[in-house]
Amino acid sequence: MYDYLIVGAGLFGSVFAHEASRRGKKCLVIDKRDHIGGNIYTEKIEDINVHKYGAHIFHTNNKEIWDYVNQFVEFNRYTNSPIANYNGEIYNLPFNMNTFNKLWGVVTPKEAKEKIEEQKREAGITKPRNLEEQAISLVGTDIYEKLIKGYTEKQWGRPATELPAFIIKRLPVRFTYDNNYFNDRYQGIPIGGYNVIIERMLENCDVQLETDFFAEREQLEKEANKIVYTGMVDEFYNFRFGVLEYRSLKFENKILETDNYQGNAVVNYTDSQTPYTRVIEHKHFEFGTQDKTVITREYPKEWKKGDEPYYPINNEKNNQLFRKYKELADQEENVIFGGRLANYKYYDMHQVIGAALTKVKEEFNK
Ligand code: FAD
Ligand code: UDP
Repeated sequence: MYDYLIVGAGLFGSVFAHEASRRGKKCLVIDKRDHIGGNIYTEKIEDINVHKYGAHIFHTNNKEIWDYVNQFVEFNRYTNSPIANYNGEIYNLPFNMNTFNKLWGVVTPKEAKEKIEEQKREAGITKPRNLEEQAISLVGTDIYEKLIKGYTEKQWGRPATELPAFIIKRLPVRFTYDNNYFNDRYQGIPIGGYNVIIERMLENCDVQLETDFFAEREQLEKEANKIVYTGMVDEFYNFRFGVLEYRSLKFENKILETDNYQGNAVVNYTDSQTPYTRVIEHKHFEFGTQDKTVITREYPKEWKKGDEPYYPINNEKNNQLFRKYKELADQEENVIFGGRLANYKYYDMHQVIGAALTKVKEEFNK
């Protein structure tokens, strides 16, 4: 008999499992995949850590969370500075003085701000109601057309006018010559890869892979006093109110006989024609010097049952549906829901760790 059955060996489940076992609790962690780590898992190909479920860069502003992950692994000095490729034209991201200079020839922050103000005035937006209006209000129509519209509509499979504004606010807009994609104080890639973190977190737990909770639900529920569930919340309730929507991805990996394919870890293709959104060259996350290189093209696609649910689509319709499931979830006495899928939130890794540590406090400081 276990104290906790933890469904999902991703970051949320693993933080919870680690903290519970540290407190003497017996945990069984299951995952339907054949490996631990959830979406932060990396696979070694040609001696390169390949981010199997999309590029992951750790960043946080929270010292407590930074110290927390650093007890498991050390981080390198990688700073994310993606490049945008718009029909062969190269721009720096996030939107900063380098981007504005390349686009308009402006040199000073004052000139850049004037240009954006002028475009904003022409567009006549006072209160942004969706992603398109939000983007134009932040950076003007030129940048919206070249660097945002195509990428966003490919990524989400919907017009930018039908997407929530908060998605674009993830990206900084800066009037300095600074290509750091994040504003956070701490950032990096774990030395030795993300798997090390999860392996250390789960050291003292029982782990069962290739085990789908729903295939053995009755039996598994009998094996523990409580469940920590990090899968899709609507699936937990057999989709009784309807199906929450996700965006999925297809990853196409290639091993290339060159030591440096694109000169950067992340290149975004922001036009609407190129079918993929970004190309990742994994070795650059770790300043790799291998002879070969591994790249991944990331193709967004519509999610249907059975596909990997990568991104929750937090528009009004889905959020409303989620609230119905949340009402049920809140009433459960022996099930803790957490993580990107059970909370249906566009969480980054540091937010998942923060949320898991909050649940741990609630659970063990009663
Ligand atoms: P997951 O990692 O999804 O883990 C859930 C686990 O539960 C999975 O392993 C799944 O197999 C398992 N599971 C689900 N249902 C069942 C079931 N029925 N039975 C058994 N097991 C089940 N964050 C950053 O901070 N920086 C980044 O650069 C970044 N890049 C990202 C890029 C992409 C393409 C994506 C999709 C996400 C990115 N993230 C990034 C977010 C990050 O992946 C998440 O915040 C984090 O991994 C979520 O952890 P989790 O435990 O909630 O979920
Ligand atoms: N985005 C964009 N152009 C880019 C990069 C991002 O328009 O070159 C928009 C797009 O809508 C995307 C959002 O900004 O979904 C958030 O980007 P982020 O890089 O945070 O996405 P993630 O890494 O989570 O896929």
